[in-house]
Amino acid sequence: MPTIAQCPGCPYRGPAIGTRGDPASPFVLVGEAPGANEIDDGRPFVGPAGERVLWPALAEAGLREADAFVVNSVACRPHHPVRPKVRTPSPEAILACHGRLARDIEAHPRTVIVALGRTAVRAVTGQLGFPMMKKEPDTELPSDWGTVVPTLHPAFVLRRGVDGLEYQMLVADFKHARRLAFGPGE
Ligand code: URA
Repeated sequence: MPTIAQCPGCPYRGPAIGTRGDPASPFVLVGEAPGANEIDDGRPFVGPAGERVLWPALAEAGLREADAFVVNSVACRPHHPVRPKVRTPSPEAILACHGRLARDIEAHPRTVIVALGRTAVRAVTGQLGFPMMKKEPDTELPSDWGTVVPTLHPAFVLRRGVDGLEYQMLVADFKHARRLAFGPGE
């Protein structure tokens, strides 16, 4: 069951969800924040962005769910005080959740962190407004926790359509990250 978070400085007040996959995997996927499906279930990416994009794209890149460790930038569901459709985590929430993200990531040695979308890039590197659609293939960013491979958020890819170029970009980035984490032969 999800736990209720009461974190100083955070505008959200739980429930918080946990992580998913192998906590000792060298291949870490960092998402944005849970949606309604994830809050019900307690695990990341159980809704359409996971089922229709993230897990199939990972499989196309030669990885199983059990090969990855999945964690969100923010553990509670974001809500905006006056714009209910806005679900992007606020800068305050990203900051307030940083210690929890660090504990999740630092619990084991990591080789590669795949940042799913701009919020995740911000949460793991501190960089604001990363130009995701203009990046070069195989782009890598430095972070305190190792190499970061920035890529598109699965919910964005879903909105563009799973037969689009964005889905192929996601698969290509997962393949690059897989080679960094597990070597060229695997
Ligand atoms: N989107 C995310 O970024 N994380 C989830 O857990 C679900 C959807």
